[in-house]
Amino acid sequence: MNISYQSTRGGEKGLTASQAILKGLADDGGLFMPDAIPKLDLPLQEFAGFSYQETAYRVMRLFLTDFTEEELRSCIERAYDSKFDTEEIAPLTKANGAYYLELFHGRTIAFKDMALSILPHLLTTSAKKNQVKNDIVILTATSGDTGKAALAGFADVPGTRIIVFYPKGGVSRIQELQMITQTGDNTAVVSIHGNFDDAQTGVKRIFGDRAFAKRLDAAGFQLSSANSINIGRLVPQIVYYVYAYAKLVANGEIACGDEINVAVPTGNFGNILAAYLAKQMGLPIRTLICASNDNKVLYDFFRTGTYDRRRDFILPSAPSMDILISSNLERLIYLSAGSDAAKNRELMAQLSATGAYTVTDEMRRFMDDFYGGYATEAEDAGEIRKVYEDTGYVIDTHTGVASAVCRAYRTKTGDQTPTVIASTASPFKFSRSVMTAIAGDQGDRDEFDIVDLLSQTANVAVPQAVEEIRHANILHTRECDIDDMESTVAGILGL
Ligand SMILES: *Cc1c(COP(=O)(O)O)cnc(C)c1O
Repeated sequence: MNISYQSTRGGEKGLTASQAILKGLADDGGLFMPDAIPKLDLPLQEFAGFSYQETAYRVMRLFLTDFTEEELRSCIERAYDSKFDTEEIAPLTKANGAYYLELFHGRTIAFKDMALSILPHLLTTSAKKNQVKNDIVILTATSGDTGKAALAGFADVPGTRIIVFYPKGGVSRIQELQMITQTGDNTAVVSIHGNFDDAQTGVKRIFGDRAFAKRLDAAGFQLSSANSINIGRLVPQIVYYVYAYAKLVANGEIACGDEINVAVPTGNFGNILAAYLAKQMGLPIRTLICASNDNKVLYDFFRTGTYDRRRDFILPSAPSMDILISSNLERLIYLSAGSDAAKNRELMAQLSATGAYTVTDEMRRFMDDFYGGYATEAEDAGEIRKVYEDTGYVIDTHTGVASAVCRAYRTKTGDQTPTVIASTASPFKFSRSVMTAIAGDQGDRDEFDIVDLLSQTANVAVPQAVEEIRHANILHTRECDIDDMESTVAGILGL
């Protein structure tokens, strides 16, 4: 079956997967969605014997229907290789009665690697398939982890340039060092004077500027996005839920067909939406636990049906979840409106005009599979400490949020369904917060001393990704105001 892609706002339809990947965001500001969500076409039992790469092929081929088998397998082989520090790619660790799906074994030790290792290959393959002559300029706003994962994925990939914007002071020191030490002639990193939403809004504005697109085209460039709005990021993220389920079956933890819950620390809603799509494909997932930190706009949304971004932005210790506009939620809104682009467009227009919208009761019922919860900064720290004290296993601040919300959910509902918790970052990426949670305030102790302390505490070697920034040179020092993002891009590209 051929799948075609359309904008959630109705302005564009009939695109192939490769065209949707190339564009990233639709011209009308909408996100691309498949016209139907395909079903897994093999019995689940068969997945139990598959490698990560084979699982990826079996899942992704159902969405990327204009890719040949050879093209897709080649993208997968180049993405999920020895860049990952384990052959399993995404191992499951059982601790305290839950299954932590470790999505941080890639090059930048955060779950963004799962999709951003393959996106450059999907994009360059898409460019070839569509006879694109321009260089592709990846423009990305990051709350910390996307930036580095995208930089690492695209660095020195021929025919591409990558420009990353991050909020100054809004990312961890390790995250910042990872980005500003990035090598590669085609890379640029800019800190903006604003928060992540400012960065994301600025990037979206550049995407929407037709005149600028013409200027770029004349100079031999065209924009694309590595943010989680790109369907080429969403689809690879479905894979690990299928893989995790199959592993639970293979390990005898569940019987094939049993339901599981998933708990996901959520920011831009990409990761949990991928779990939802896995469910729609036929994976037996019961409840999707959407875990927020103190920026609990999604918790409030699932509780009340009103999405309201008019609130202060809080900066807790899980910066990759600090988002007031969860872009990918638009895809769920669209589906819950019965794929009615006009209805979705109306709500998104309200969001940009007033900062809020309310869905209908029918749409809310459609979202019944989701449970929204949040954990405060203190609850997050308490959870990290508890899991460590009970089991010796150390989780990061994002995973801590999901783990805490999951625990509270079980207590409140009595639901004892086996639960996969998406473990989205290595604790080493947030060493200071993690060590503070386990052992108390670290004072002004040096960042890398804390890294070493964490290594002793967790009994885990310091990951290569952290070792390599210990002494690396700082290569990027650009800063800009939020109103100057477009001219900054022009400057970087020499327009
Ligand atoms: C990006 C990120 C998240 C949020 O994922 P979304 O797909 O944006 O919801 C959570 N944790 C970490 C560590 C991340 O990097």
